Amino acid sequence: MKYVGELRDKYEGGYQVISIDDLDLNRLNGIQKGIKVFEGMHIREIILVISLLKDIAINRGCSNNCTHCGHDAKPKEEPPNWKNARTKNISEMSWSDFKDLTDGVKDLRARIGCEENIDFYYDDSASIAPFVDSDCIEIEMHGRGGKKYDITDVVDGIWDGFGKETLVDTSGWYKKHRKRQQRAEKIVDYFSKEENVKKLHILNISMNPFHSTLEKSLGYKQSGEHRKSEKFKNLYIDRMVNVLYTFTPLFDKLENKFQVLRYGFENSDKECPVEHTKGWFEQNIYNEIIENLKEKYREDNKSEEEIEKIVNYINLSVTSGGVSDAGRAKELKGKKQSKSTWDIKRLYEYVDRKMVSITLDSNGRPYAFLGEYAAQVPLEAELNFRNINKNTRDFVCEHKSKKVKCYE
Ligand code: SF4
Repeated sequence: MKYVGELRDKYEGGYQVISIDDLDLNRLNGIQKGIKVFEGMHIREIILVISLLKDIAINRGCSNNCTHCGHDAKPKEEPPNWKNARTKNISEMSWSDFKDLTDGVKDLRARIGCEENIDFYYDDSASIAPFVDSDCIEIEMHGRGGKKYDITDVVDGIWDGFGKETLVDTSGWYKKHRKRQQRAEKIVDYFSKEENVKKLHILNISMNPFHSTLEKSLGYKQSGEHRKSEKFKNLYIDRMVNVLYTFTPLFDKLENKFQVLRYGFENSDKECPVEHTKGWFEQNIYNEIIENLKEKYREDNKSEEEIEKIVNYINLSVTSGGVSDAGRAKELKGKKQSKSTWDIKRLYEYVDRKMVSITLDSNGRPYAFLGEYAAQVPLEAELNFRNINKNTRDFVCEHKSKKVKCYE
């Protein structure tokens, strides 16, 4: 392509860094020819979607049922509908669609070239989250011949295709869930290799008073069934002890790429039950998790010095977060769900000025996320996915509006 030749002559090997926006995208159109996943798309649509992509909904659904879930996540539909090719609904991205996407992005970046000189992405975010309403430990994609893929394959794909890090987020799993325990052990092996740490943005462990197991404990407490209440509380504590214990070999590898996310209401918020505040959680749950974890390390004959070092690392990794204002979190706060209203003309402006981030649904449909309106708005562009005509669950703030054009 003549235009790419001109660009290489002008920029390659030089010091000047230019934005993808400074290129004449109309002249660049056609460079995508033959890349399957972009078939039928104009380069302006491709650049908008790929350069602003923040979230890929690999799985649609989550088993944790947290009451503070801002995405109103419900358990994934089982058995997965992907098994039946005739079904109209899917609850996960197929491996072949994901692979077409990452291979296609890699190919496009190589065709444009000048990687050192052209800033391919509109925002500074170096990472992609492979989830919206799901938990990374539950990611299971299906490929040909029944082959299964997990979060480590997703991390590889995002790095290889987009050149970006992946945000890995989990609320944990029960040790007796063998598949998830094995997946977690695979994550440990994977990130124990130095060459893979660079592909990780952050490994987040979410610990909060809103997990369904703790909510059950609270419910029994309120109805005076104290033994049952203790049973569920201890179940949650054992679960999170096992999560931290399983990930322990990674602590000296990941350094600041590990976080414990502790959501809760502020202690000063009198409207909220004390069991939902950070203070209650810290004193009654978090401390117990840490104490039980220390015991497990002692059983492994770790020295007190070693144990203190690990516990300090975990404590320093704790990041407190507030509860969002959407989905079930909104109901928890006693607020009514309301659909936001917005002006379609302003919306075009937002998309045109790229003041959005893009969420890609499992079927290949991109949505513009407009933080100001808390709205996920469908775009006219669509990737050439095999599952493009399949239905998925609505996102919590999805608008059934006219699809917005990516360019005029
Ligand atoms: S908050 Fe996260 S872990 Fe909890 S239900 Fe929602 S998606 Fe699942």
